[in-house]
Amino acid sequence: MAAKLMVGNWKMNGSLAANASLLSEVLAVMGGLTCRAAVCVPAPYLAQAQALLAGSALALGAQDVSAHEAGAYTGEVSADMLRDFAVRYCIVGHSERRQYHGESDVTVASKAQRALAAGITPIVCVGESLAERDAGQTEAVVKRQLAAVIHTNGHCISEIVVAYEPVWAIGTGLTATPEQAQHVHAVLRAQLQAATAHADRVSILYGGSMNAANAADLLAQPDVDGGLIGGAALKASEFLTMLKAASR
Ligand code: PEP
Repeated sequence: MAAKLMVGNWKMNGSLAANASLLSEVLAVMGGLTCRAAVCVPAPYLAQAQALLAGSALALGAQDVSAHEAGAYTGEVSADMLRDFAVRYCIVGHSERRQYHGESDVTVASKAQRALAAGITPIVCVGESLAERDAGQTEAVVKRQLAAVIHTNGHCISEIVVAYEPVWAIGTGLTATPEQAQHVHAVLRAQLQAATAHADRVSILYGGSMNAANAADLLAQPDVDGGLIGGAALKASEFLTMLKAASR
């Protein structure tokens, strides 16, 4: 199994000064760690982060990509534009995009396709709302979301990363228990195994209020290959504690 993958999602946070200080603190310690790591920064900071991360073990990521290739799509950022900044990963289908921007499973699948075509690894987010969990629909929801991406990208599905992010755990301080996370990760792993002989290449990350206190227990689960981290990735010391937990 590949080294664990830890990805910070900065969301709409940061400034030139704050980014420089956060990245310099993280990079100062990154050298001794064995996990893979990345930060997904707001689009306006891609150039700054590209320069600061050059030659380091911390990879550059974006938080979204257009489902379109190019043209009259005001405000959108294409996969080729991300590639110009040496972007390695791109989150697609984050629940905040699905919820606030009406992104459908089909749109998310197209975004994953655009990223893959540009040589960027899409981090495909799936996850159920609290109402869906309470209604016993967790497995059906995450399988439906992943199935759309498999349907559109079947030939290169082993090139994606999946992030299981229960919507009720994102930014709420509520975390799935290690057992809850493992259960859903195993379901997703089985779905990938049915789609490709190379499912073992797909890292399945957990996301949802992962922090320095709970990361080790979540990462100890057999099908938890890393984390997608929001709030806790904005504090260098907390992010570094999690990277260390993932390097054991
Ligand atoms: C996220 O935004 O992907 C996320 C998991 O956020 P948080 O860690 O803050 O819950």
